[in-house]
Formats: sequence, structure tokens, C-alpha cells
Amino acid sequence: QVWLASSGKPMKQVGSSGSEQRASLQPDKKWVIGLSIDTLLEERWQRDRDLFKAAVEKLGAQVEVQAANGDDAKQLSQAEYLISHKVDVLVVVPHNAEISAAIVEMAHKAGIKVISYDRLITNSDVDLYVSFDNEKAGELQAKAMVALAPKGNYVLIEGADTDNNAHMFKQGQMNILKPLVNKGDIKIVFDQFTKEWKPVNALANMELALKANHNQIDAVVAANDATAGGVIQALAEQNMDGKIPVSGQDAELAGAQRIVEGTQTMTVYKPIEKLAETAASLAVRMAQGEVIYADRKVNNKKIDVPSILLEPIAVDQTNIDATIIADGFHQRADVYRNA
Ligand code: BGC
Repeated sequence: QVWLASSGKPMKQVGSSGSEQRASLQPDKKWVIGLSIDTLLEERWQRDRDLFKAAVEKLGAQVEVQAANGDDAKQLSQAEYLISHKVDVLVVVPHNAEISAAIVEMAHKAGIKVISYDRLITNSDVDLYVSFDNEKAGELQAKAMVALAPKGNYVLIEGADTDNNAHMFKQGQMNILKPLVNKGDIKIVFDQFTKEWKPVNALANMELALKANHNQIDAVVAANDATAGGVIQALAEQNMDGKIPVSGQDAELAGAQRIVEGTQTMTVYKPIEKLAETAASLAVRMAQGEVIYADRKVNNKKIDVPSILLEPIAVDQTNIDATIIADGFHQRADVYRNA
């Protein structure tokens, strides 16, 4: 089944000849894509920003970037600025899934289409969602933990409650864990979201989890590498680092180094370049008024959003060279620096 994302400008249905038709309508138009990004304070988002910008420019269009650094009011006013500067399409990485629905409303009032990038904007008529299969990412995390700790006490250190992805990761994890919980093999002894995805908050939660369970923990499902960093610090305080499996996500350099050292079991590698290039190409095509065909849909509590979801990849010591290093995501010398 194919799901259609609405087109930006009133246009005829496009086939393969669509781009020629469009080009002849406004041959000299330089398309401008707005990027409103939650934060640049984390490693992955800087990469997203750089790759997205490069990809849009390669297509002959221009990008205007605004970063809110975790401040919802700031993200709204920055989006308002981009809309008033008449970007042709607005691409949003929302800090808060619900609050950012106001951005979609504002943009639509100005006739501007919105693409939700990596994180879904909920309760809104957002036009298109481009991301990784986030439920699958959660499944990969839990599967890796279950392979090493098929039984025992599990701790879940989830992402930010305000980020729809955190819920999708958890959904995926529970797809794997729930049957084992029902069987009595696994007991979830601690389960907390991590405010703002911050390592210090993950550290504090992990300290609580250890204390409450007298260190009787057999595996930790951590939602990303940042939270895994906090978890592993708490484990190290109890001399338990490297002794129980811990998951992660993002293939951040610090996460990759911990995998090689043996304190973190795995990460979920999401090739950001593919995401950035896909989103850039769709944004420019949408600006040109093309109808976008999406093969997936994700419900955002209001509508089924036409979605394009890329594949996440589980990475551990056995395939780190063949994946993130072979791809040039990180240099081998950096990853193995402390090994
Ligand atoms: C992203 C993760 C990231 C997290 C914290 C999530 O929405 O999908 O890749 O680690 O946000 O920034």
C-alpha cells in the first residue's frame, strides 16, 4: 500500500516527467528549506545538521537552520521566524512531540508543508515523517540483552518522555521482553524515563535502581549511548561495569569506544547520512509541489502520517568494523583509542 503525503503547491499529479514540468514553471526559483532542530548539544544532531545542509545544497536549494537547544518556547519562535521568512518547506526535529504541533499549525496557515525529521510531531496534521524504524531499534536493543541475559532482573532506562521516539523504543523493547516477563523468566525491577535524555539523569536513575535492588541486576536496556554512559558510570561505582549487558543507540564515538572496551554491549547504528539525504530530497521535491509516495504510516494520535522509515542496525564487538568503521561513520583509530 502507498500513502500520499500532500503536496506543497497546487500542482498536477506527477509521474516521471513531473520534475521537467515543474522546472519549466519556475525555472529560476531557488528553493529554501527551513530546518528547526531541537538541539545541537548532542553529537548526532550536529551530524544531522551538517549532512542535511550539504544534501539540500547539493540539490541546488538553500537551508536556513535554527537550533533551540531544548527550549520549547524558543523552538516555536524560531519556527515562526522561518515561516515568516517564507521557507518553502519546514523540516522539524521537535524537542517536545506535543507542543510542536503548534509549529505545524502555524506553517499550514502560511501554506508551508512540514516534514517531521527523526522524531514524530504528535496530535498534528504533519505532512510527512522521515525517520528510522524506531520500534525496530527498541527490538534490537532488547534482543541483544536477552541473548546474553535470558533470565533475571532487568532495568529499563528510557529516553525523554517528551520525545515520541522514547515511547517507540520502549514499545519495541517490550515486544521482545513482554513474553519473557509473562513466562516469569525476566522481571523488570526498575523502569524510568530520562529527563531531557541527559546522562546525569540516567546516572541518578541507575544509582536508584542499583540501591533498590541491592545490585541484583542482570541487564540494563538503555535507550541511547548518552543514557548508557550514565548507566555505565553508576555500574562502575559498584565495580559492575563490563559485568552485565548494557544497550545503547546512535553509535556515538563514546559508545563505540565503550563497546570495544567491553563496558557497553551494543549500540543501534542509524546511518544519519541516509536519513539526511532522504529528508533533503523529499523536502526539495515537496517544495516543488511533487506528491510524495510513502510506503509506511505511523499514527500520531490524530492522523496516520505518511512515513518513510529507514533500517537501524545492531552493532556490537563482532560487527563494529564492518559497519560504523567501514562506513566511515567513525575512524578506526578513534574507536580503538583506549583499547
Ligand atoms: C533520537 C536518538 C537520540 C535521542 C536523544 C531520539 O529522538 O532518535 O537517536 O539519541 O533522541 O537526542
